[in-house]
Amino acid sequence: MIARMGKRELLAQALDKSGCNSLLTRASTWHGLLVMNYHRIGDPAGSSFDWDIWSASAEAFDRQVRFLKQHFEVIGIDELSSIAAQRPLRGDRLAMITFDDGYRDNYELAFPILKSLNAKGVFFIATGFLDNPHMAWWDEIAWMVRNSPASQIPSTEWTPQAIEFDDPDRQDTIHRLLTIYKSLPGDETAAYLDGLAAVTQSGRCPQSVAAEAWMNWDMIREMRAGGMSIGAHTVSHPILANLEAASQEREIVGSKQRIEVELGETIDSLSYPVGGRNAFNETTRELLKGNGIRWAFSYYGGYSRLDEFDPYDIPRVPVETDLSMPQFRAIAALPQIFS
Ligand SMILES: [Zn+2]
Repeated sequence: MIARMGKRELLAQALDKSGCNSLLTRASTWHGLLVMNYHRIGDPAGSSFDWDIWSASAEAFDRQVRFLKQHFEVIGIDELSSIAAQRPLRGDRLAMITFDDGYRDNYELAFPILKSLNAKGVFFIATGFLDNPHMAWWDEIAWMVRNSPASQIPSTEWTPQAIEFDDPDRQDTIHRLLTIYKSLPGDETAAYLDGLAAVTQSGRCPQSVAAEAWMNWDMIREMRAGGMSIGAHTVSHPILANLEAASQEREIVGSKQRIEVELGETIDSLSYPVGGRNAFNETTRELLKGNGIRWAFSYYGGYSRLDEFDPYDIPRVPVETDLSMPQFRAIAALPQIFS
């Protein structure tokens, strides 16, 4: 992970203190495209959902956008054509501000900040979360545990030993249950969620709760009209590489077409769910090309050099709440080391 290395934090702080960082940021030490990726904005305190999905407070996000605006040309999807054609843009250090999934705080908190700072943002929407409101599995597991009147997860086929809740926030229990989810074959995950709904006595998260968590299409239209870019993030958020070609195609085309119907324009970008190196494969690339997706974003860190730009693997840097401003500045100054 990017934000968590002790040595690099020390180096980032040293750079910051010495003033090297601002020097480096101003000097042309590198050329390319740096894409920052966010999920939720705001304060997770008091929320029943997965706290790890929050990327920054509104204040931190505001500072980060100001910084990017000051030191980069912040671009949207439309400007990517110029990069691919190697046509010069105004600057040769470019940044993008992207969001995955479609959480409502993107509209309520991030959009006003981006608009007020005249910065473009790109929002990748998992359309199934909006159209058939349900929480993503990570949020639903957190919701079931935090709303549980029980004091433990008893011994089950998935949890051979009972897991005592670590009150008050139950964060460790949630982490352990999420780790178990990730280890399961795809066809067992639904039974696991039903099992947790039963043993926590919370039931499955109702549609009414889920609907509040996501943006609706009016909000997305308003953001588009306000200068933001919208892209696809599949329908149901699977790891595409784990699916057969036909299912991959349904996920890609289904999400692209839903957004096109709602916005009345062509959608040509997508971010890979989960986004690691193994989250997409050659089949995915071919399907994207064949279905009119021109730009696809991964999520394992790094930046794009303009002379080695791969439109189907545009790397992104995760922004997480424990990312300090010195670290953020260090990523911008030296993405070769820090991203
Ligand atoms: Zn996602």
